[in-house]
Amino acid sequence: MEACVKRAEASHVLTPEEITALLGAPEVEECLAAAADRVRHAFVGDGVHLRGLIEFSNICRQNCMYCGLRRENGKVERYRLDADTIVELAHKAKGYGYQTVVLQSGEDLYFTAERLAAIVRRLKELDLAVTLSVGERSYEEYALWRTAGADRYLLRIETTDEAVYERWDPGMDYANRVRCLRDLRALGYEVGTGTLVGLPGQSLASIAEDILFYQQLDADMVGIGPLIPNPDTPLGTAVPGDFHLTRRMVSLLRLLLPEANIPATTAMET
Ligand code: SF4
Repeated sequence: MEACVKRAEASHVLTPEEITALLGAPEVEECLAAAADRVRHAFVGDGVHLRGLIEFSNICRQNCMYCGLRRENGKVERYRLDADTIVELAHKAKGYGYQTVVLQSGEDLYFTAERLAAIVRRLKELDLAVTLSVGERSYEEYALWRTAGADRYLLRIETTDEAVYERWDPGMDYANRVRCLRDLRALGYEVGTGTLVGLPGQSLASIAEDILFYQQLDADMVGIGPLIPNPDTPLGTAVPGDFHLTRRMVSLLRLLLPEANIPATTAMET
């Protein structure tokens, strides 16, 4: 196993079987983390980049079984910020020294393509990099936001196991999710995606496939977090995602995608 880690550190290549074996090997976790730390230091340096996150709406048309914002959760208090408030917050973020703002929301169709494009244009006037994270839309909508000045887009695939994806994201189509990521790539966005570790039915082999998918997509950012069951969702009593498995996945990601941005996620912190 340790020879495998050494090889990955030098070549950034592993087979699906090797990744699966390392994911399932707690005894190599520290060795993996140390190798990943060296690769991080060599390829992306020691700086930590801060992003100003503006969660501008928690209204969502989707019904993902693990998410507190799912449309059938009547216990969450819903809100939506107006355009002026969003711009004012971005202004504040700029004043604090942030160079990037991330506009994140549930899939809230009140924000039509044109409405959101108008907000992006106003943020670009502040000379900020703009990341959008608003879910699945058409190629034309992504194109409009790109021409309005949006630089990056976050859309987690959650799992590349199609059956697991469609079971826990009912009404959503795995092929459409992949289509969105490919459209974003084709439009020249910097693309962020990621995995939810611990979805019931997810295997180590499928997590290995996630990593290879990110390599193939040439993802610019990959965010990984363990499942934290929310009591107001159908997965409220599920077994939580494994912190150490998630940590091994983060290390393997760094070895195989040496230049990617890998954020410290709030789920890991929690
Ligand atoms: S689309 Fe996103 S915000 Fe909406 S329910 Fe699914 S995970 Fe939650």
